[in-house]
Amino acid sequence: MSSNSGIQIPSRLPLLCTHDGVLLPGSTMRISVDTARNMQLVKSRLLKGTSLKSTIIGVIPNTRDPEHDSDELPSLHSIGTAGLAVQVVGSNWPKPHYTLLITGLCRFRVTQLLRERPFPVAEVEQLDKLEQYTEGGQADGELGELSQRFYQAAVQLVGMLDMSVPVVAKLRRLLDSLPRETLPDVLASMIRTSNKEKLQVLDAVDLEERFKKALPLLTRQIEGLKLLQKTRKLRPDDDKRVLAIRKGGVFPGRQFSLDEEVEDEDGDDTAMLEKKVKAAAMPEAALRVCLKELKRLKKMPQSMPEYALTHNYLEMMVELPWSKSTTDCLDIRAARVLLDNDHYAMEKLKRRVLEYLAVRQLKSTLKGPILCFVGPPGVGKTSVGRSIARTLGREFHRIALGGVCDQSDIRGHRRTYVGSMPGRIINGLKTVGVNNPVFLLDEVDKLGKSLQGDPAAALLEVLDPEQNHSFTDHYLNVPFDLSQVLFIATANTAATIPPALLDRMEVLQVPGYTQEEKVEIAHRHLIPHQLEQHGLTPQQLQIPQDTTKDIISKYTREAGVRSLERKIGAICRAVAVKVAEGHKEGKASLYLSDQNTENKEEDSGIASPPEMPIVIDHIALKDILGPPVFEMEVSERLTLPGVAIGLAWTPMGGEIMFVEASRMEGDGQLTLTGQLGDVMKESAHLAISWLRSNAKTYLLANGSADPLEGTDIHLHFPAGAVTKDGPSAGVTIVTCLASLLSGRLVRSDVAMTGEITLRGLVLPVGGIKDKVLAAHRANLKRVIIPKRNEKDLEEIPAHVRADLDFVFASTLDEVLNAAFDGGFPAAVNHPQVVSKL
Ligand code: ADP
Repeated sequence: MSSNSGIQIPSRLPLLCTHDGVLLPGSTMRISVDTARNMQLVKSRLLKGTSLKSTIIGVIPNTRDPEHDSDELPSLHSIGTAGLAVQVVGSNWPKPHYTLLITGLCRFRVTQLLRERPFPVAEVEQLDKLEQYTEGGQADGELGELSQRFYQAAVQLVGMLDMSVPVVAKLRRLLDSLPRETLPDVLASMIRTSNKEKLQVLDAVDLEERFKKALPLLTRQIEGLKLLQKTRKLRPDDDKRVLAIRKGGVFPGRQFSLDEEVEDEDGDDTAMLEKKVKAAAMPEAALRVCLKELKRLKKMPQSMPEYALTHNYLEMMVELPWSKSTTDCLDIRAARVLLDNDHYAMEKLKRRVLEYLAVRQLKSTLKGPILCFVGPPGVGKTSVGRSIARTLGREFHRIALGGVCDQSDIRGHRRTYVGSMPGRIINGLKTVGVNNPVFLLDEVDKLGKSLQGDPAAALLEVLDPEQNHSFTDHYLNVPFDLSQVLFIATANTAATIPPALLDRMEVLQVPGYTQEEKVEIAHRHLIPHQLEQHGLTPQQLQIPQDTTKDIISKYTREAGVRSLERKIGAICRAVAVKVAEGHKEGKASLYLSDQNTENKEEDSGIASPPEMPIVIDHIALKDILGPPVFEMEVSERLTLPGVAIGLAWTPMGGEIMFVEASRMEGDGQLTLTGQLGDVMKESAHLAISWLRSNAKTYLLANGSADPLEGTDIHLHFPAGAVTKDGPSAGVTIVTCLASLLSGRLVRSDVAMTGEITLRGLVLPVGGIKDKVLAAHRANLKRVIIPKRNEKDLEEIPAHVRADLDFVFASTLDEVLNAAFDGGFPAAVNHPQVVSKL
């Protein structure tokens, strides 16, 4: 190496003892350091030193450094290689160690060991005189001839390698530029040689001897290569084998390995795959593709990128459950019991699910519609899906589709892409390992669209019973029969489900729960479940019904029961701490619960040493969950004219919504604020127009012709940040404005919903059940709904109906009369408008 020509190594060198691998001058090697002396050397010499000299160390091969610092150092090999530590990497895992990258400079002989601890240091004599190389390769006599032969052999070897690999091309160039004398060392470290052979090369201090030792190794490598190429020739499309290049060295220490063992492993692997392919019981078409791919795989060198691709593909193919399935164990009576046990209420949904299952039992292949449960979050859609799988004795797998906007998520990537993989359907099948699971397609309403195609369109093929027996994933590229899979979809709203998809599904509405239903669900399911999850028993924690009601009304505002479950979880956690603390103070009696229920008023919280069971009363509740999050604010807000309560439907369930209006001097402008949809804005304009045209009738105009003369009106929809789209706020806006213009208060216990027309008719709206439940939750007493929605009240539980006073309105006049105490009298009897819609 000409660049090293001037280097004179120090006469004293710290010694690094290695036992695997031999560093030769001119090559680079990675050495792992973990023994005490070697670690010391790295720490105090390499990591602390600042000069170039301090990075030069002596590497002594074939000596194992003793594990303990105190142990005697074994006798050292007398010749070593001085090396330059190029890189030091430290790691603490799995145990503290360093990895050194060392480039060999020249040989040295140990003349005297100066000290052994903390790391050995020796007086050394430099053996290779680096400057002699720079004189050029003009050595003559036997040495000249030897070096010429060696050079030619090296050229021949490199010529047999694939020049398109950059490192091979670089090596070819280096052969000409390196001094000939360095070649034995450089090549011996590159070709396949054992440690013993390398050691012989290292020990050959005399150049002539070194050439003699290294030349047979080189010739052996060339012969090996020739043999390999001959066998390759027999396979015509594969003579361009890229040689496996062993990892672990940086040029020039790379080792070209022509491993026969790797070949064998390779063979084993493919044989194993072949066995698996034959055992996978796949259909004819898939088997043909697999066998073809296997054939290609056998011919491929392992280093080719395509090898891994094809291998992965075949692995995937054999793991798919082509003909593995579970047997259905459906008993409708048992299914009914199971569904009832798992879920309280939701009668309509359970009835439909049972019908569906019954038909399935009678007719084994069902090409019916896909069930789609639509409802607010936390009402048990997913959990019903899981129960269905359980009643059928099938595997259950949930595929979350929220936010999926690439069709290859469903249908996979073509295998031409790097990192391609199958879609979620095929992946799901691989996960469950059978071909007839229950797949729950969660959140189908939240599928997106993007430049990468429309995932909803890809789902069509999956869900269509006419097509899905031959569903073709792009990655597999062979059809897979999905007809045995039972698909169930869930969504929060049917409005955003792509129409074509909706067309293939039967929508089952799962409305929110009433407060009473929530209490029942909490006591039958959520509390026992949470107790179990937290390792508690009912003998340790009791939550009375009143407390549950408090949690529901003061700490949650939701249609489902998810935050209720979370709050119960929070209580369990708090109690678990107390129970765990009290554990040491002796076991509490298991039969205390009866006496204690009477004591619960005094048992103010969990502060003092726990007496089992811990009963959560309202004080304890406040301690654990903090002050109430939601207060009923209805009556407070209705103390001024110009406020009315509407009922809105959102994908999260029903909500009450305050509509506020105020007036100020101006020129008849209308300002709207709040999260509004376009339709809502139109409703507001409609309401204003109707009021203006009827101002005289209702005495709103204060004598003038137009109530808006000289005034601006500001309408605001404050509740929440949900877009309140939909026309159903029409009646509320009219009521609110009528209150503002007349200066009268709207009754504080009335909520209303309904669309209006310009002529003052009230049209029906959707989501009545959710809206009525929201009104009930808010403790309102009277609900005004359009007359034509009267039939929807059937869905509402009887006790809720009994609590509320329903007013069915077909005109705005009726709405206003019901909304104000004592009615909202018109000045003159105007002719009744009758709906013809
Ligand atoms: P969704 O899928 O509708 O968002 P989940 O199925 O995840 O809701 O339900 C949330 C939690 O509420 C689950 O722990 C579930 O067991 C429980 N749950 C919901 N409805 C009921 C019910 N009617 N009976 C018993 N548990 C219920």
